[in-house]
Amino acid sequence: MSGGAEALPGAAPACPRCRTGEILAVLRLPRTWTNASGRPVRGLAEVLLCARCDAGDPLVTYFAVHGTARPEHAALLSRLLREWLSRAHPPTPDEDALRAEADAWRRGDL
Ligand SMILES: [Zn+2]
Repeated sequence: MSGGAEALPGAAPACPRCRTGEILAVLRLPRTWTNASGRPVRGLAEVLLCARCDAGDPLVTYFAVHGTARPEHAALLSRLLREWLSRAHPPTPDEDALRAEADAWRRGDL
């Protein structure tokens, strides 16, 4: 597995954050973490560009205006993608939320 970026206008998978927005692009970053037994685990972290959640992003604005990637806009799209990549960071786990969920599970509330 390797990381990469993918523009997906037209594929229209639903956003896992808002459940309604169209995913316009996916950035996959290689990610390694250590499991409970101390072994490194390799995986991918995904950063999604959602038409709704990321409505202020210039790349989202482009697709809102043009609907799809147009060949004559290749240079502009390339620049907008590079700018999005420079801002995109994988989501970090919320330790408090994880702890609260684990506590609820132990109490039998889940
Ligand atoms: Zn969304």
